[in-house]
Amino acid sequence: MPTTTPEAARTALGHHPVQLTSVTKRYGTGDRAVTALDSVTLAFEAGTMTAVMGPSGSGKSTLLQCAAGLDRPTEGSVTVGGTALEGLDETALTLLRRDRVGFVFQAFNLVSALTAAQNVALPLLLAGQRPDPAALAAALAEVGLADRAGHRPSQLSGGQQQRVALARALISRPAVLLADEPTGALDTKTSRAVLALLRGLVDRHGQTVIMVTHDPTAASWADRVVLLADGRIADEITARSGAEAIASRMAVLEEQA
Ligand code: ADP
Ligand code: MG
Repeated sequence: MPTTTPEAARTALGHHPVQLTSVTKRYGTGDRAVTALDSVTLAFEAGTMTAVMGPSGSGKSTLLQCAAGLDRPTEGSVTVGGTALEGLDETALTLLRRDRVGFVFQAFNLVSALTAAQNVALPLLLAGQRPDPAALAAALAEVGLADRAGHRPSQLSGGQQQRVALARALISRPAVLLADEPTGALDTKTSRAVLALLRGLVDRHGQTVIMVTHDPTAASWADRVVLLADGRIADEITARSGAEAIASRMAVLEEQA
């Protein structure tokens, strides 16, 4: 009988949607060098949601950019969907980002002249694919906007716009969904709806989500919370800790920062 756990087997096969190994990112050189990430090793399991928190300047955005292949580490290795990014040239990296990584941002970044359905179809059109109307309808239905397909962003609420952005991020069925402050521009009630949607994507479709947030309540929807300080992993809170537990750990880090 093999003694390997399923988790160890997945690791051995490189089946983590995203894996960072000893990732260091330095900006600038000499006296001006800033170490934004300092030898960070992190694996993101398929079908889990990870919240990344930490004081301002702790490296959250840099971590997301390295995980997305938008930025190259100074040292260390990043794999997305089992592909090592350091071996890829810019063209291959662009294709990998397009096909394997979904993004949502605090600002929804929708094209104002296009309808919800056209915004969702855009990544496929840019990839030279013909969007399947049934797949577009299904994507909008998935985010609860089946009856808003023909609406332009200005005709939608903030929460609805973020849900269009989510459908757009997911239309290419990415290995990982990266979200930088996805609820940063939303009120409490609307945030809750977007977080519930993200949680549902993880639980029902096995989507892997990495979300940067300042909000302990948002983080409490994740399976684990990774706390960064000075470019290092300062703490990791597993399972769904309450928002209060997350907030108090954050408060300690903010004091030390
Ligand atoms: P966070 O998102 O947690 O606020 P960042 O990842 O944006 O932190 O930044 C981490 C550190 O790296 C900060 O000290 C920041 O000033 C620095 N940094 C980030 N991007 C750049 C850049 N392009 N050039 C120089 N320094 C940068
Ligand atoms: Mg940031």
